[in-house]
Amino acid sequence: MTFDDQDYLLRYPMIERVLISSEDITRRIRQLGNEISRDYQGSTPIFVCILKGAYPFLADLTRCVSVEHEVDFMAVSSYDGGVQSTGVVKIEKDLKANITDRDVVLVEDIIDTGLTISYLVDMLQTRNPRSIRVASLLDKKAARKKEVPLHYVGFEIPKEFVIGYGLDYDEKFRNLPFIGIMKA
Ligand code: 5GP
Repeated sequence: MTFDDQDYLLRYPMIERVLISSEDITRRIRQLGNEISRDYQGSTPIFVCILKGAYPFLADLTRCVSVEHEVDFMAVSSYDGGVQSTGVVKIEKDLKANITDRDVVLVEDIIDTGLTISYLVDMLQTRNPRSIRVASLLDKKAARKKEVPLHYVGFEIPKEFVIGYGLDYDEKFRNLPFIGIMKA
């Protein structure tokens, strides 16, 4: 844990503990960036950031990618707005780019039930990209309801509600440099 991580813990007493430190996040993203750079040699992939949660991951990941690439953004929300994901996704903001014949890397913060990403992959496949792969910082595998192939995963985590590094609680805490767990 860095001094900065400890400082945040002191400032936000509602955070119980750090699950993944900022140092570990940085180290792992560098590895993923290298892997992606090797896999996409000779291609100009387009990284699609799923807003809002994936914005820090996109920014840090793409700065570790050495092949030429583009970025674009999508915003989605669950139709019912409840806590449980239903898998019925509303597109709040669609892509600007045409992804036909493009190599697409979907960049997500966390895969929980898998329902959101599986809906998105199916929907984007109808636009005839050359390929679609998924990069997710976190994978809550034990919560999966729908299997979806994840090509690049930062960390597998237990079935707990996490915040920080883009992930919110009531729209707050996205700015934390680490992944943390809140006090119950
Ligand atoms: P899924 O459809 O895979 O169940 O849901 C994925 C979305 O649920 C994520 O993009 C994220 O917005 C939200 N989510 C799932 N687990 C967590 C969590 O532990 N913390 C936070 N803040 N959001 C989560």
